[in-house]
Formats: sequence, C-alpha cells, structure tokens
Amino acid sequence: MSKLNILFVASECHPFAKTGGLADVVGALPKYLRKLGHDARVVMPRYYGVDRSKLKKFPAPLGVPMGVIGEMWCGIYEGVLPESEVPVYFVDYELFFGRESLYNDASGIGFMDNDNRFVLLSRAAMQLCKALDFRPHILHTHDWHTSAANLFLTTIYANDERFARCASVLTIHNMQYQGAFYNGLMNVLDVGWEHFNFREVEMDDKVNLLKAGITHATMISAVSPKYAREILTKEFGYGLEATMRTREGDLWGVLNGVDTDEWNPRTDRFIAPNNYDENSLENKLKIKRALQREMGLPQRDAPLIAIVSRLVKQKGIDTIAEAIHDLLKMDIQIVMLGSGEIWTHFYFGDIMKLYPKQFACRIGFDAALSHRIEAGCDLFLMPSRFEPCGLNQMYSQLYGSPPIVHGVGGLEDSVQNYDERTGEGTGFKFYGLNAKNLVNTVGWAVHTWYNEKERFRAMQKRIMRLDYGWERSAKTYEALYLEALKRANKPFS
Ligand code: ADP
Repeated sequence: MSKLNILFVASECHPFAKTGGLADVVGALPKYLRKLGHDARVVMPRYYGVDRSKLKKFPAPLGVPMGVIGEMWCGIYEGVLPESEVPVYFVDYELFFGRESLYNDASGIGFMDNDNRFVLLSRAAMQLCKALDFRPHILHTHDWHTSAANLFLTTIYANDERFARCASVLTIHNMQYQGAFYNGLMNVLDVGWEHFNFREVEMDDKVNLLKAGITHATMISAVSPKYAREILTKEFGYGLEATMRTREGDLWGVLNGVDTDEWNPRTDRFIAPNNYDENSLENKLKIKRALQREMGLPQRDAPLIAIVSRLVKQKGIDTIAEAIHDLLKMDIQIVMLGSGEIWTHFYFGDIMKLYPKQFACRIGFDAALSHRIEAGCDLFLMPSRFEPCGLNQMYSQLYGSPPIVHGVGGLEDSVQNYDERTGEGTGFKFYGLNAKNLVNTVGWAVHTWYNEKERFRAMQKRIMRLDYGWERSAKTYEALYLEALKRANKPFS
C-alpha cells in the first residue's frame, strides 16, 4: 500500500506534555503508523515545559488568521518523538502557551482564554500544512481542544487544493470535556455564523467545539469499543448523546495500545536492576519491599494494593474515600499516587495519619514512581465511574499486578473477570459503582491472594503475556483512515 500522510493535531503528547492517556496515545500511535510505512506527524503547543534548546526553529513565523482578533504570528519549532523519526511541530505563542500547566490555573480552574488558545492551535495546524507543503490524507484530531480543525477542513479549507485529498478523524478520549464557550467565539473561528445551529456547532447557545468536531469529522473513534457504545447513551454522553447518535454509523471503537518501549517489566529503566518476567517474579517481590520502604510502610507480607490516578470523581475517587475505612479493616496495604480535586489531598492526607502502617499517599505527578508502583504492587485498583479506555489497568496486567475494576468502557473491554471455577481471568471486576461493591470485590481479590496462591500466581503469569502492543491498534487505525477516505469520496491510491 502507498503511504498515507497523517497529521495529528493534539493538545498533549508524551513525553513533551502530559496530563493523561491522551498524551500516551499521541506519543505512541504515530510511531507505530510510521512503522507501517506512513508519514505521520504531530502538531502541538510549545508549552513552557518544552525545552526549546533541543529543537530546530523555523526561520519564518507562521501567520494564523483568527477572525476578529486578526492574524496571530507564531513561532514554529521542530523536534521528533524519541526513538523515532516522527516530526513534532510545536506552535510557539508565548502569551497563550508559555504557562506551567496545560489547561488550568493552580486552583484547578480552566484558563479564561482556553477557547482562543486551542482555536489558535487548530488553525495553526492547517496553516502549517501550507507552510510545509504537507498534503495530508488524514487530519487526526483529539478531543475538544483540536476539534475546530475538523470544522476548518470542511469550511474554510474545503476548496483548498492542499487538502483536496484529505479526510478527517476525531478521536474522543473523554466526552465529559467539551470546550463549551461564549458564542462570540464564532467570530474567531470565522467559519460563518450559518454554522451556529443545533445540527453543527451550537449547544445551549454556546459554541461547543467537541460537537463541531463530531458533526464535521469524516469519521469518529472512541478509545475503546465499549466506550463507543456508551457515549450514545444519556449516562455517558454528557448531553451530546443525540448528536453522537446521528454519527453512529461513522463511529468506531479502537482500544488504545500500550507503548511497550516504556511499559515493559523486562526492560523498564525505572525498576532496574530488578527487571523481571513471568519466570522471575522474585524480583517483583524485591520491588515491593523497596516500595514499602520508600512509602514508609512496614515491609510485611500483606497484599499491597495500588492506586495511580487523577484524583477526580471520574476515577471513582469519592467511592474509594467512602470505602477506605472498611477497606483498611482488611489486612492489606494501600499506596496512592495522584493529584486532582483539592479535597482529596486533605482527605487522604488525614487517612495516612490515621493508618500509618497501612496507607501511604503521594500527592503529585511522578512518572518514575508510577512505574515502581505498577511493578511493586500485588493488585491495582481502578474503580472508574466511566473510563473511555484507561491505561493503568493494562500496564498493571503487563506487570503481573491483577487489576480490580468497575466494568465500564475500556475496563470492561480489557479485563476478563476471574472465574473461581476454572481459575481463568485477568482481574477482578464489579458492576454498579458503590462502596459496598468496591469493598466486596477488593475483599474477593484479597481472599484470592491469601488463599488461592497458586491460582493467583498463574493469573499473574498469564496477564504478563497479554498482547497490548500498539501494532494491532495501529493497524485498526490504518483501516479507519482508509474507510474515512472512502466515505469522504477521496479515493486513495
Ligand atoms: P486519564 O487519561 O483519564 O487520566 P488513563 O489511565 O488513560 O487515564 O491514563 C493516565 C496516565 O497518566 C497513565 O499513563 C498514568 O500512569 C498516568 N498518571 C496519572 N496520574 C499520575 C501521577 N500522579 N503520576 C504519574 N503518572 C500518572
């Protein structure tokens, strides 16, 4: 097959800027598409945290029309995704992106100018194609932040010959965040007010950027097959379920892969020299002991249960808070790493003081520690209220730490419940998120750890051999791209 030109437009990309799984996908998928022979590239903002000294600066600035605001001139820097030849273009506009955090101020409130910031990014991506004379076959956007690019492709750039062979794909990583803004944003988007209607861009008299993407993308994907079905319903659609249903025929669910360059206990640099595989689980025990020490817990032989998560309601953190006293009645230890809603920082800090021998919590974002936790724990707890895909349940499986999950979205797709009769399964799963079900299921997993040691060990070995490599998902995306070109009537040869 000839190669496709694919442009990823995204607000985050690992390892340059990350708040969650979106960054992992954008940092990995283009590499695997490149391995399939395609010319995949990434456009993202040059946040304050991106070190410019290692990047190449374009000689000329890029002019980006921003409607009533006028033309904004951005610097463009170029780098590559590590261990690859995937070009990454950084849009540099100090006033918008020269900030420590990506979306929110220190108190967790979204920046007031998030609308203009991400419309600028989306429009800059389109202009950059012209500057580079890059003629994409596929414009691949991610979540609301870059959905405006799907809209631009079918409006302002509809007759631009550089995009004549281009279809677009929008991947939904999280339906809850939609980019809903004051309708004056139409004057910045500059696509014409005729698009401000209920069938395209308007929602509750606001501009809803995710909706604009959903209605204008050639095809849409969600990050797991189950989540693709869930977002058609009121419970998970966050008000856009009816819009989503109008595109049901163009919606695919593609489970994210795992970047095994980063997440593989056999090679993981963060756990060296105790790297392990299914035949050297004694090294996993050494990592557990070191982790207990590091977190200030007694180095005992009790099951160590881990939580690495944004500490927000989406992740079921309020249910964990409700259940914590009952959970700690069991002879277990819990380690938690995360940050998020401010109340959780205080609440779990107090729990740590109450149960110093059983509960340890680190507030913050720490990639190295997250690897040591995945490797050192016995069980991984992830009771998300909704979970578009979720990565940690897959990481924990590959590290031989069976996950305990609420059976929604990607958790449902990637965790097979333990079957007591046969001993089969890849984790422990429950339905109906509440404290009682959570405590019972943790109890079941803990019971299995204590009393069914051989079966537990067999499960560890089995899950370490699971294939979550990106190769398979990248092939599905390739098929999705070809389908999008067909549906857009842009034959690809
Ligand atoms: P989401 O994108 O909804 O936050 P995912 O499970 O898809 O959830 O991805 C979360 C990613 O962020 C994983 O790679 C996880 O290890 C990482 N992560 C989350 N919180 C932290 C933290 N406090 N420190 C380090 N890594 C974290």
